[in-house]
Amino acid sequence: MDNAAPPVVDDLEARVADFLERHGGLMADQVAFRGAQYDAGLAFVHFPVGLGGLGLPLTRQALVDEKLRDAGCTYHNLRLNPVGIGMVAPTILEYGTEQQKRRFLRPLFTGEEVWCQLFSEPGAGSDLAGLAARATWEDGTWVVNGQKVWNSLAHVASFGVLLARTDPDLPKHQGISYFLLDMRLPGIESRPLVQMTGVAEFNEVFLDDVHVPDDAMLGGRGDGWRIATTTLMSERAMLSGGAGGRGTGPVRTLLNLWARRRDALGEAERAIRRDQLADIWLRAEVVRLQGQRAKAMSRSVPGAYHSIGKLMWTELHQEIYEFCVDLEGADGMLHEAGYPLARADQLSSTPSISSQFLRSRASTLEGGTSEILRNMLGERLLDLPGEPRTDKNVSWRDIPR
Ligand SMILES: Cc1cc2nc3c(=O)[nH]c(=O)nc-3n(C[C@H](O)[C@H](O)[C@H](O)COP(=O)(O)OP(=O)(O)OC[C@H]3O[C@@H](n4cnc5c(N)ncnc54)[C@H](O)[C@@H]3O)c2cc1C
Repeated sequence: MDNAAPPVVDDLEARVADFLERHGGLMADQVAFRGAQYDAGLAFVHFPVGLGGLGLPLTRQALVDEKLRDAGCTYHNLRLNPVGIGMVAPTILEYGTEQQKRRFLRPLFTGEEVWCQLFSEPGAGSDLAGLAARATWEDGTWVVNGQKVWNSLAHVASFGVLLARTDPDLPKHQGISYFLLDMRLPGIESRPLVQMTGVAEFNEVFLDDVHVPDDAMLGGRGDGWRIATTTLMSERAMLSGGAGGRGTGPVRTLLNLWARRRDALGEAERAIRRDQLADIWLRAEVVRLQGQRAKAMSRSVPGAYHSIGKLMWTELHQEIYEFCVDLEGADGMLHEAGYPLARADQLSSTPSISSQFLRSRASTLEGGTSEILRNMLGERLLDLPGEPRTDKNVSWRDIPR
């Protein structure tokens, strides 16, 4: 029996070739080139025509990315605008008005408008629905007050997706609304937070009487939790490591290091390390193929299946860099001289092994910790009994904190 998937029949390859012929000359200008890519429907091929896509399956984007890379295009979505492209675009597509889609999707893709995510708070991380930032309706505008934390790229963002409580008397999941916040409004202050890599990738953001217009709300009042779930699922898909080809990314870093270091190892250690390397390679392949399967199963918005990849990949990612540091021996304990404070936008595109090792520790936290993902996957995909939730139907105002 032939189990191979039937080949996809469309003219995508010809479209990419035509696009490169007509616009390849713009490549030196990121905004112009990516703008043309959006207009040609090659930004998010699974989005509708007119909104950066062609209405094709999500899996077809890989062909576009590969052809553009082969033609010399070095722009990388995740470096340009990770929150915007990876998380906000699918959310706006799913819940935005026509006007919001037309206003935000194109400049987000070109990188003209960088986005950040204003979800976590000092008292609300894993228990995000317990968040306390308030948006109060006063004289025809929303007045927002509160503190957010761990907000990657907030210091360079033009817009942020903000969760704020609009109805504190309702149970915690029901009283939240979702805003597309202009980060240039008065009353918003971002302060850097330095990670153990020496990089201030993220910030704490203070919101002090920020006046937000009603048309900045995404979806309806109280829809925030449902919409945030789409953003979080998209974040987990983005962090699930399935994007690269076989043996790329951290796996390639490890293989290159192995090639340089293996001859210096004793015979016994070399044999043991080679087994470990083969094991990592195989598991990385499983994650990659799982990512492809999850993509094939999802519509425009990723589902819970992507969280399997996020869980598996982030834990493997840590293991890969632990292995790299071990292979480096005593050199693995060294970090860049001076341990300088840098902002994420000033980072080198080829960080050292030690930086990547330290940064990898964060990957099982961001976008939902491994413990939370195990709970979620157990409940949603394995039908296991849910966690006890005693505050689910209680008014948020009455929950002790
Ligand atoms: C690099 C990085 C970038 C980030 N960027 C952003 C961003 O841009 N915007 C944003 O809003 N947030 C961001 N975050 C925050 C991230 O979403 C939170 O760190 C994460 O949700 C965990 O919340 P917490 O840190 O408050 O930990 P807590 O919720 O306090 O958890 C502490 C520990 O308890 C465990 N735990 C908690 N509840 C349970 C439970 N029910 N069952 C089992 N174990 C549990 C957790 O797994 C964890 O180990 C970022 C985080 C990192 C590390």
